[in-house]
Amino acid sequence: MVWWAAGRVEILEAWEGRTIRTPRTELPMPSVVRFLRSRRRHGAPTIRFSRDSVFARDRGACQYCGKEVPRRDGTYDHITPKSRGGQTLWENIVLACRPCNQRKGNRTPSEAGMHLRVAPQRPSFAAIGTWQVLVGFGDTLPRAWRPYLGLDV
Ligand SMILES: [Zn+2]
Repeated sequence: MVWWAAGRVEILEAWEGRTIRTPRTELPMPSVVRFLRSRRRHGAPTIRFSRDSVFARDRGACQYCGKEVPRRDGTYDHITPKSRGGQTLWENIVLACRPCNQRKGNRTPSEAGMHLRVAPQRPSFAAIGTWQVLVGFGDTLPRAWRPYLGLDV
């Protein structure tokens, strides 16, 4: 609200029948807003490399067998093993379930006869953000948000 008052966001959609009361007036409660000016000045925002962001990029699925991996059971596989010069980078780390990680061991995927579903890359901010919003809201995702997330209305 402070951002809105300061002219930094534009309200694109408002909740039906919901308002925000201030001592002087009543305002529609925003459901979708757009930042008018990026808060970063240089280039596109980038996602910091972390276990959580790898988990989000890989949609919580083992990148070898495709099975969903609970967050606490997720392991992070170095595609080219660390002991063989593999680095800890977006392009060399994938989420893997324990059985796949154990099976692969200290080998490359081709040595282990395993295949990655997707070549890992640095994810876009939009892709991770959308997934986290969907997981957070599930079926309760507000309809007004759907077109902004690239979903069918
Ligand atoms: Zn697996």
